This record gives sequence, structure tokens and C-alpha cells, in this order.
Amino acid sequence: MNAAATMPAIDREALRRKYAEERDKRLRADGSAQYRRLESEFADLATDPYTPVTPRDPVTDHVTFAFIGGGFAGLVVGARLKAAGIDDYRIVEKGGDFGGTWYWNRYPGAQCDTASMIYMPLLEETGHMPSEKYAHAPEIREHCSRIGRQFGLYEKALFHTQVTALEWDEGANVWRIETDRGDSFTAKYVGLGTGPLHVAKLPGLPGIETFKGKSFHTSRWDYAYTGGDPEGAPMDRLADKRVAIIGTGATAVQCVPHLARDAKELFVFQRTPSSVDERNNIPIDPEWFADVAKPGWQKAWLENFVGNLGGGFASEDWVQDGWTDLGKRIRKEILALPMDQRNPKTVLAAYEDADHAKMEEIRQRAERIVEDPEAGQKLKAWYRQLCKRPCFHDEYLQAFNEPGVTLVDTDGKGVERITERGVVANGVEYPVDCIVYASGFEVGSAYTERAGFDARGRGGVTLSEHWGDTMRTLHGLHIHGFPNLFMVQPTQAANLIANVPHNIVDHADTITAVVSEAEARGAATVETTAEAESAWVDLIASGPGMNLGGDACTPGYYNNEGQGFADRTRFFAGHPMGALAYFAHIDAWRKSGEFKGLAFG
Ligand code: NDP
Repeated sequence: MNAAATMPAIDREALRRKYAEERDKRLRADGSAQYRRLESEFADLATDPYTPVTPRDPVTDHVTFAFIGGGFAGLVVGARLKAAGIDDYRIVEKGGDFGGTWYWNRYPGAQCDTASMIYMPLLEETGHMPSEKYAHAPEIREHCSRIGRQFGLYEKALFHTQVTALEWDEGANVWRIETDRGDSFTAKYVGLGTGPLHVAKLPGLPGIETFKGKSFHTSRWDYAYTGGDPEGAPMDRLADKRVAIIGTGATAVQCVPHLARDAKELFVFQRTPSSVDERNNIPIDPEWFADVAKPGWQKAWLENFVGNLGGGFASEDWVQDGWTDLGKRIRKEILALPMDQRNPKTVLAAYEDADHAKMEEIRQRAERIVEDPEAGQKLKAWYRQLCKRPCFHDEYLQAFNEPGVTLVDTDGKGVERITERGVVANGVEYPVDCIVYASGFEVGSAYTERAGFDARGRGGVTLSEHWGDTMRTLHGLHIHGFPNLFMVQPTQAANLIANVPHNIVDHADTITAVVSEAEARGAATVETTAEAESAWVDLIASGPGMNLGGDACTPGYYNNEGQGFADRTRFFAGHPMGALAYFAHIDAWRKSGEFKGLAFG
């Protein structure tokens, strides 16, 4: 039966009130301060369980390009620069291999929520055909290694190494880089690609240090304790264990079905339910892929996805996933408005109606799938879809029908404390053998705090001093006063967060064009001018800002745990005309060969 056909009429006002009530339950004065950092505060839980640290001598040499971070950003920039003839390229990475988020996140069931065809970078260059519409983590991690091998990026890489200082040497026109492994080397150019979600956090719960059983964060999965492996083999050592998982975000949604299958008992502690729509994963058919994979196909797919998200008017939807579904629904509601009634107010109302309809379908799905009616109600998400990261899964809600699985809903209050024996919520102690923290990663803090170093540019000025309260860049990439330095991240650029790798591939093309130009000119430095940086920041700030997780939303990292980002939202945004406008602008900028806004010295 068509779900939409059975949908009750939506009372916009009543729903707004319900959303506000649910949000208010969750607001707390401590905001982001409710969390504690895994790496600095829980050293024993933060160690790398996947790769032993190999002793090595410190390096003290010079490279043309050093890139900080060995995830997609460092890999794609490296691949492009190597192809352009920049051979001595060094990645510095805190993990034991390439992969970034895919290195650390090996929890059972880890999978990409964005379709492989657009999410996995350099598919054409490597010739890799993804095995599934939504690839699982081991395949993505292997793809990272594939890029590393194919483009010779392993040769100079430094793993298990964290940058501690990055300073511009004015006299020598080089960056001086120091690390926690005693390295002290120089580079003509530096790239920063530390990623947005790399600092794991734990809830700041009283008693957390006193727990006598086993505990770990999902990004440090201890297979030696659980048994099984990242490929999904049964975690046989949990067969006699009572396990608690704290958190019900995108990570928990993926690993709960595996824990439900393998643990003797599983307690899922929920503060806010995720919206969990259908996944519909399918294997990729080699014949279909051969037909699609004609030269230039991946760029065309990337653009088609953006067009269908709402950033343009792509005619056909090739990706067909939950992201494009929402984009298409919003567009349909807006196009249904008579021309003479289209104004910002009616367009926003149309958007709200499309959102309400979508969320109602997702709520009905929870009620339909979960057999226990009370749990089915508790798993309903009461907020607009983009208030929190939308989730997609075909086994998560079903896991609550498994024997031995208990949903412990805390009505927005969260877990109270941890004891020596287990977890306390709603005044009840749940004794367990193991606690899995699916509590996410730090987001609201300053970039420089998360990076672990504060780059020092011309005149010894640090990046945090240059930025003050607001990020300042040209194209999200170049920073005045920081010559030969490139940031690879989406903000103040396309800001396309539904497919982060698209931003990365595009930045890699820009960096390669700029570095090639600087080398061809024999320039020692390339840097954006103060005027160009200011003009770009003004353009970004002239837009509506990034309104994800606004005031009406339930707290989460999208809205700084309910405290918002105040005026900074105007600067934490992308091109005011949308992602496609940014890509068109930057493409023309690169092709012009003028490199407007950059000064070569
Ligand atoms: P999140 O920050 O999204 O979720 C953390 C969870 O912990 C939330 O459910 C939160 O509740 C809960 N929590 C925190 N404190 C408490 C407490 N005291 N008591 C009970 N619950 C608590 O982290 P994730 O690791 O799930 O996801 C982080 C991001 O990683 C995602 O948003 C996504 O961007 C990315 N990701 C991407 C995937 C992909 O497919 N590409 C897959 C998985 C993750 P509350 O909601 O109330 O704050």
C-alpha cells in the first residue's frame, strides 16, 4: 500500500508545538560542554586498536608539499598533484594507515550513507567498481589504500603522527612542521585536511571512570573483546554478555543490528530518536556499471546529485536516495504554488509541508516495524528532517523486535550516570558487562582546537588570531597571511555536506591548478590578497547562512547543542546561490587562468 495514501492530514501548528516541546525537554545549559574528549581525557580508551605503532627515526628533510590528514582530502589532493608532476608529497596522518574517518570507524555495520557512485572519489581514475549502492566501510578503507598505492602516496607518508606545530618561515619561504614523533621538516606548500569529525567525544557522565567492565567508543571498536570483525563476522564473544550502547545517532543506527544479533542482551540508551528512513541497498550490477562508466561519468553524477538536492534543476535523478527524495519533494511543493503566490513566506511554508509529510512517513515507519507499540512510539523522531543527521537503515528498527533487546528511552534527559556495575537511566541501574559509547565527535569547537595545532603565518600571526570570531577565506581554500597554504573543507565554498568528497575533489583540482601555475612562474609564494579574502567573506555573509539545526530544532551538533552559532552562521556557509553556483564560479575561475584574488611572489 502506498504509505502516502494512508497519511493523516498534517496540522502545521500542532506539529510545531510538539516539535518545540520535544526540543525544550532536551535543552541544557552546558551545551557542548556536556561532552569530554576521548583523546586528551581518556588516553587508555583512545589508543589505536587496529595497527601497532612502528618505531621510526624522526624526519628532518624538505618536501614540496606536505598534507596534514590522510583521509579522502590528503589522498585526492595527492593523486591530483602527483599526476601534475609534483612528486615529493608527504601525508602526515594520526592513524596507522590512510582512510581518516574510514580508518577509525570499523564498528560492525559501518557503511556509507551516501551512494558509492558519488561518495567514493576517483572511481574513474582507479577503475574501481563499487560492489554496492551504499558501500560498507572495509571496501571504502581498501579504496583509500588503493588510491595511496596507485599514486605512490605511501612512499613519504608518516603514520601514527600528529602535527604539533606549523609555522611559516618568512626568510626561507617554507613551512616548518613539527610532530609528536620528533619530526622537524619543511615544505614549500601545505594542505590542511583534518576533517570535521575526527575528535571522538564521550558524554561527561558522573562515574564514567569507575565502571569496572569493558567500555569503548565506536571509533575504537575492540574486536579482541567482542569477537567478529569489521566485515560483519559474528561477535561470538558477546554471546554471554550484557551490552549497553549509549547514543542513537547515525553510528548507533548501523551497529545496533549487529549487537542485537550477537549479544546475550542489549540495552539501547536513547536521548533523542534518529529519523530512520529505508535504506534499499543493492549490489551494483557490472553490466549496468559498464554501461554507465563512460569517460567523465563521475563528474556528471556528482553534478546530477547536487542538481537534485535542490541546488539546481537536474532533469533526471540518477542517484535516487533519501537526500534527493527530500530535495524533489520540496521542489514539487514549491512548483505547485501558483506563480503569483510565490514569495519567501509561501516557499518556506511549502518546504515545511514537504518536510512534515516526509517526517510523518518516517514516524509511521517506526510504528509499523516495531512490534512493541510503546517502543514504536518512543522511536519516533519529532523534529524537522535536517535538524539532525537523517539516517537510513533496513535493520535498525527491526532490531528492537529481537529477543534480548531493550530500548531504554530517557525522554530527552539522557543517561544519568555510570556506576562500577553499569548504566543508570530514569533512576534505574542496568548492570552490564560492556558499554559502547556511540556518542559522536566534537564539532562546535574552533577548527584550531580540533586540529591540535594553530598554524602561524606571516608575522607570527596564528590562524585563530587572524580569524577571531569568524572564519575568513577566499573560496574556502586560501587564507590571507598564510602563503602556500590550502584548507580542504566545504565551508565558504560549496558547503555541500550531503556529499563531502565532491567538495574535496573540486578543491584538489583548484590546488593543482594553483600549484602548477606557481611552479610554472617560478614563484616562491602564492597567497590570497586581503581585498579578495574580504570580498569573498562579504559575499558568503550576504547569503542566508547555513540554517541547519536552527533555533526550532532539537539540540545536536548541527546547532551547537541548542545554543546556536549566533552571527557565525552567516560565515559558516557556502556560496549564497548554492553549491552548483560555487562549482560554476570556481570552474570559470580556474579556466580563466587569471587566478584572480591570488598574488604570486
Ligand atoms: P552523533 O553525535 O550523531 O550521536 C551521538 C549520540 O549520543 C546521540 O544520539 C546523542 O543523543 C547521544 N548521547 C550523547 N550524550 C548522551 C547521554 N548522556 N545519554 C544518552 N545519549 C547520549 O554521533 P554519531 O557517531 O552517531 O554520528 C556522527 C556523525 O558521523 C553523523 O552525524 C554523520 O555525519 C557521521 N556518520 C556518517 C555515516 C555515513 O554513513 N556516512 C555513518 C555514521 C556516522 P542526542 O541526539 O540527544 O544528542
